[in-house]
Amino acid sequence: KPRTFTELLESKEEEEPKIGVEILCVVRALLKKIKRRVLVGDRVLVGSIDWVDRRGMIENVFDRSSEIADPPVANVDHLLVLFSMEQPKPEPFSLTRFLVEAESTGIPLTLALNKSDLVDEETQLAWKARLRDWGYEPLLCSVESKHGLDSLEFILKEQTTVIVGPSGVGKSSLINALRSNQRGYGASEMDNWFEPIEGSKWFEEQRVGEVSTRSGRGKHTTRHVSLLPLSGGGYLADTPGFNQPSLMKVTKKSLAQMFPEIRKMVIESEPIKCSFNDCLHLGEPGCVVKGDWERYAYYLQLLDEIKIREEFQ
Ligand code: GDP
Ligand code: ZN
Repeated sequence: KPRTFTELLESKEEEEPKIGVEILCVVRALLKKIKRRVLVGDRVLVGSIDWVDRRGMIENVFDRSSEIADPPVANVDHLLVLFSMEQPKPEPFSLTRFLVEAESTGIPLTLALNKSDLVDEETQLAWKARLRDWGYEPLLCSVESKHGLDSLEFILKEQTTVIVGPSGVGKSSLINALRSNQRGYGASEMDNWFEPIEGSKWFEEQRVGEVSTRSGRGKHTTRHVSLLPLSGGGYLADTPGFNQPSLMKVTKKSLAQMFPEIRKMVIESEPIKCSFNDCLHLGEPGCVVKGDWERYAYYLQLLDEIKIREEFQ
């Protein structure tokens, strides 16, 4: 439960864990030396806490359950793949690329189609049926009419979610819509909290920091990302992820695993398996994966793309 700092001081719970207190930290030099990066979303051990200035030092980073690179966030436990039904209409191959990229992270995903206010019910049902055939249960929503936002909030509860999808589908609008419902800390309140007290060691350190930034040393552009707290206890990254799915983590061999249609066919044919252990499901003799499904052509297309990439590596 977030509490003010004065409340905490007065509570005299010195030995109790302090939940909901925000502390501005520096990273221990040793961690930097062994190139242990601290990411947004990391669980960390904080020491040398100065409760008056609300400063501390990150001593160690706990093991991550997951990690994504774009945006750089640790311990993400849910991806929301967002497309829109109109303006722009889903382009099936592009949607497939996003789904394959999302599947390749190993993080559970929800597929949502926004802008339901722009299409009739028939079109909505048609999309539902088509995506079910792909192996997904899509959530239809509209940031504009608020349709489906309750269900989305429910899904986002108690998880750390990153929204991914192409531009124009309403990712920023959705993040803003969900954020405006939130209690928790506003960014401006936090900025005030971290204003260094003049004369304190932190104040001096910040000034040193400013100088070295100006000299251009170690210049690197880090994309800004923060996690917005949700009322249900979850977090939502304020920066959308992988605008251009690179599929870098997908190999020729693993691609089939990224298609629910193939996973289903493999399970349903058990105990019979493809005759070849390294079967790519291209019509090899004894292959249990048939080619009579909508996205088979996309599977082949992506396989070619990955083959070319692997040859050049
Ligand atoms: P992003 O590029 O994915 O972040 O998309 P934006 O959030 O910037 O939205 C792109 C445009 O779509 C903006 O003009 C939004 O106002 C509009 N938009 C977002 N959600 C909806 C919706 O549910 N219905 C309609 N009609 N327009 C929407
Ligand atoms: Zn096969």
